[in-house]
Amino acid sequence: MSKSSTRILQVGAEIYPLVKTGGLGDVMGALPSALERLGLAVRLLLPGYPALRKPLTNVSLVCRLGPAFGAASVQVLLGRLPGIDVPVYLIDAPSLYDRPGNPYVDGSGEGWNDNPQRFGLLGWVAAYLALGDIDPAWRPQLVHGHDWHAGLAAAYLALHPHTDCRTVFTVHNLAFHGLFPQTLLPVLQLPESSFSSDGLEFHGEGSMIKAGLHYADAITTVSPSYAREIQTTAFGCGLEGVITQRRAQLHGILNGVDYTVWNSTTDPRLEAHFDAAHPEMKAAAKGALQRQLGLRVDPGAMLIGVVSRLTSQKGIDLLLEVLPRLLVENVQLALLGSGDAELEAACRALAAAAPGQVQVSFAYDETLAHRIIAGVDVIAVPSRFEPCGLTQLYGLRYGSLPLVHRVGGLADTVVDADDKALAADTATGFVFNAPTTQALEQAVRRALALYRQPDRWKQVVCRAMVQDFSWDGAAVAYADLYRRLLEAKPVRLTKRP
Ligand code: ADP
Repeated sequence: MSKSSTRILQVGAEIYPLVKTGGLGDVMGALPSALERLGLAVRLLLPGYPALRKPLTNVSLVCRLGPAFGAASVQVLLGRLPGIDVPVYLIDAPSLYDRPGNPYVDGSGEGWNDNPQRFGLLGWVAAYLALGDIDPAWRPQLVHGHDWHAGLAAAYLALHPHTDCRTVFTVHNLAFHGLFPQTLLPVLQLPESSFSSDGLEFHGEGSMIKAGLHYADAITTVSPSYAREIQTTAFGCGLEGVITQRRAQLHGILNGVDYTVWNSTTDPRLEAHFDAAHPEMKAAAKGALQRQLGLRVDPGAMLIGVVSRLTSQKGIDLLLEVLPRLLVENVQLALLGSGDAELEAACRALAAAAPGQVQVSFAYDETLAHRIIAGVDVIAVPSRFEPCGLTQLYGLRYGSLPLVHRVGGLADTVVDADDKALAADTATGFVFNAPTTQALEQAVRRALALYRQPDRWKQVVCRAMVQDFSWDGAAVAYADLYRRLLEAKPVRLTKRP
């Protein structure tokens, strides 16, 4: 098998910069190019949301499928998307994908009723591309599906009698399962036999994430620690059984950072640029942020930033609880997020009680995200669980020291500024051991103590900025996994019929 001829299909539900709700979009936007740079022939398969359908250029109609999955007509298009280096297959099914706003939920935040059909079709098209039925000119040798939205691809392929295509399934967040009722099996073109605990059934429902976990040739998670954690009841979301059974096929590959997008030296969204060689200009980014947000322009205030979905996963409630006790210490907070209504209300109340010191924005705003991550002193990620986490990695590059719970990818990427690490000049942030207000408060107080020693703080900032989490390393790990799978006989729990 020559490396340059290896054809890989990446399948997912979002892609930066066109459709993004979180880290999955960043990964889908960066990993394919990094794999291509290694000589793999990579293509993407995505749902044809208007935000992708409209900018698609060089479009060719690859296949017309007629009615399927509840859609009156389905076409598969091939084309190019701006900012994406690899060819893209789009599923053009307006009745399934032409909807306003978020790819997954309606205006009131509820999942679309027909999400099983919308994402079942994604997996189905992936599988039939691999079977050669959709594009006779290009048939992937390996399908790499991301999160529950692509979980059924592995099931369709494993359940098909004639395929030599390999499958990889990556868990970006085990908390989202993609459940569907048994009655939908015929609509989703799945055999009744798949609906068992030794298949894709999960407590009486179908589960797209379980399909990926059960049927894929290999499973990856987005950090080594998360790969270990999800084998336990504390982090396994009820799926620890199937994950433990498949331990031998489970790999943790840490996400990378796209340094063409997240780079303090070149970021076009910033007014001031800086790096480890010129850290002094970071003060200008901080001042600009304080001015923009209406915070008191005070270089001596330790400014904490949060850029996050507002859900219980992210532990923002812990931060909101300890902050009132810390505001007397000249600490500021700039928060950008959206999600849970109760958390938004708590953020609002804190901001109202501390004008000029706490500023909160509820939006999805890419430019403000960059400015916060660049302008703050500390980026807080107190997540209860965190498969990888990207904002702490962005914080490192911008010299904004991550303050994180020792869990998942946060544990794998931040070196706590304890005495030993400070002495060895390896410290890059602040890590606390338990998701409690006490542990978090102690970590913020440690950060504050270091912040008041500017020379030592600067040393940690410079160490943070030179950390290298580029995609190249992760891409090599994925390419190596693909190669091993393609060279080996497939290992599956379920015998093919
Ligand atoms: P998750 O995928 O669980 O949301 P990650 O840390 O892996 O968490 O990725 C989050 C990504 O989403 C980062 O790129 C972060 O900058 C971005 N992000 C989160 N909330 C917002 C927001 N309100 N506005 C802009 N970007 C955001």
